[in-house]
Amino acid sequence: MSNDNTNSKVAFPRPPVLFCDFDGTITLSDNIVAVMKHFNPPGWETIVSDIVGGRKSLQVGVGEMFALFPSSMKQEVTDYILTTAGIRAGFPELLQWCKDHDVPFYVTSGGIDFFIEPLLAPFGIPADHIYCNGSDFSGDGIRITWPHECDDECANGACGMCKTTVIRRFPRDEYFRILIGDSITDFEGAKLVDLVFSRSHLTDRCIELGLPHIPFDTFHDIIRHLEQGGISS
Ligand SMILES: [Mg+2]
Ligand SMILES: [Zn+2]
Repeated sequence: MSNDNTNSKVAFPRPPVLFCDFDGTITLSDNIVAVMKHFNPPGWETIVSDIVGGRKSLQVGVGEMFALFPSSMKQEVTDYILTTAGIRAGFPELLQWCKDHDVPFYVTSGGIDFFIEPLLAPFGIPADHIYCNGSDFSGDGIRITWPHECDDECANGACGMCKTTVIRRFPRDEYFRILIGDSITDFEGAKLVDLVFSRSHLTDRCIELGLPHIPFDTFHDIIRHLEQGGISS
């Protein structure tokens, strides 16, 4: 294959686009799980096990978990996440790499705006490149809102923030679609894309389904692979 790429291009068959999970991927751990464990509202563990066991959709489960909190706890919950969440090494460098190479970078998260937006604020990602769920603190309990629900083609139908709906806007024949993630919110998207950078449960799932994936630890690992056109080394 001829390669007349300049230094500004990368060695992919089609222009790459990145879809990156937030909880447990950009951050070191899952913020929703951390909040539930810390504040321990009665009933959250049953909801989680129902989600994991497939008895409850992510959308319903996440909505129910946050409804366990009174809206008056907004600041306390937000402060807890902002002070405990750590950002995975290499994240600013990956964003810079994407800028330098004209590679679109999207945050695709099943998490909630009230903690994602302040945590991402230092990194200058355009607001229309961040897909997550919303929140409403005007009632008694925290109410999660769903500005990016599943399209008709989503097999899940109740993702909350639907990653496959976002991914489908970038047709396979035009883009080399890359998903970065770690867990259950990434499972459906992983089946659609050309390459997965995986951690944790998502690695297990990719192995189980035979999906093309590269396990990673830091975003520096991902940059190294992207430099080589996604080829493992
Ligand atoms: Mg995650
Ligand atoms: Zn969906």
